[in-house]
Amino acid sequence: MAQTKILLEERDIPTHWYNVVADMPNPPEPPLGPDGKPVGPDALAAIFPEALIEQEVSSERWIEIPEEVREVYRLWRPSPLYRAHRLEAALGTPARIYYKYEGVSPAGSHKPNTATAQAFYNRQAGIRRLTTETGAGQWGSSLALVGEMFGIEVRVYMVKVSYEQKPFRRSMMQTWGAEVLPSPSDQTEAGRRILAEHPDSPGSLGIAISEAVEEAASRKDTNYSLGSVLNHVLLHQTVIGLEAKKQFELAGDYPDVIFAPCGGGSNFGGVAFPFFADKAAGKAVRLVAVEPASCPTLTRGHYAYDFGDAVGLTPLLKMYTLGHDFVPPGIHAGGLRYHGDSALVSQLYHEGLIEAVAVHQLATFEAGVQFARAEGIIPAPESSHAIRACIDEALECKETGEAKTLFFNLSGHGHFDMAAYDKYFSGELQDYEYPAEAIEEALQHLPEV
Ligand SMILES: *Cc1c(COP(=O)(O)O)cnc(C)c1O
Repeated sequence: MAQTKILLEERDIPTHWYNVVADMPNPPEPPLGPDGKPVGPDALAAIFPEALIEQEVSSERWIEIPEEVREVYRLWRPSPLYRAHRLEAALGTPARIYYKYEGVSPAGSHKPNTATAQAFYNRQAGIRRLTTETGAGQWGSSLALVGEMFGIEVRVYMVKVSYEQKPFRRSMMQTWGAEVLPSPSDQTEAGRRILAEHPDSPGSLGIAISEAVEEAASRKDTNYSLGSVLNHVLLHQTVIGLEAKKQFELAGDYPDVIFAPCGGGSNFGGVAFPFFADKAAGKAVRLVAVEPASCPTLTRGHYAYDFGDAVGLTPLLKMYTLGHDFVPPGIHAGGLRYHGDSALVSQLYHEGLIEAVAVHQLATFEAGVQFARAEGIIPAPESSHAIRACIDEALECKETGEAKTLFFNLSGHGHFDMAAYDKYFSGELQDYEYPAEAIEEALQHLPEV
């Protein structure tokens, strides 16, 4: 019988991140300033260190990973690649299913891969404080985890509905030494403005980003850190796909289709981009981003320039968007509720080089539970989106008799999401399809360029 866990040694941790820009057929569309002109790197210098700005605009194929970052990676990397023998048997599919498990990081998801790098470069630039936002709490936890390691104070604006629903994510961040505030808060102009209009606002990622950016821009000792969407974040996550390629070599296999949940695009880019390099060189591999039907950014959003935050403080990014004032329904995959998407993922999708599908909440939980009962690991609801799409493909293989190799990124565990599982078991969860009118409405609010 083939191996269940395909493991690498610490010496196999990648020495370089892979930059997909080098293999894209067209250069990325530039971010634009308020005047509609491309923003220069200087415009970002108020909130990001120079090294990260360089990475944001780089087209170099390989970027070296600093030794201090690889040292922290050693705490949980390389992450295991699993062959899902038991899930295959449960499904009765001829497909071979593999998953890369990023839940082995201390924070329980892929996010510390970039948090580590961001903390390192900020510290190197003399920064002593970082602000950030968090939705479900996974990003805040990841930055909190590494803040202490690099001697950086971390302040997290946590979307209010999550702050109330997920008190243990907050305790986790506090354990690692971060300060956590519910957003909208009264600490920033942006927060106070939203509270004046909507005192009961449940918050949104867009609003929390506005608060964190505003504070970082107004203090010299403070920078801002973003857990997804930006090019440098996707770059740092490519350690996932780079390790996976080595692991597939060891297994003597290669994926036909790769699935990853897609919120801001960082774990999708992280796992898929290193394989995109092969695709660009002519290899047949399908790369599928999986999103919720309630926040269908790629599958139903507009490809347009829009703000990254709710208030309009960030440069304009060309991306698939549901509109920067989108306030998502309270679905239980908080990490997939962002109104926009990575510009790199958006452009590759627009050019037909990657695929996207949207799946419903109930089918997603059903897949997560089926996975847990076969493989043991309880997946994060975000990860279950990829599991759903992968199981659907495996069931199609059962129909056609094709023995495809399927691979998904198990981006995190669901140990802090048991309240959502409870709701699923008690029948309280519902499917929600984002209404077409709301998508049309969003068009009216897109900034003019
Ligand atoms: C944040 C998160 C996601 C989605 O975010 P991306 O930016 O699309 O990677 C997916 N899974 C888990 C477990 C997460 O924490």
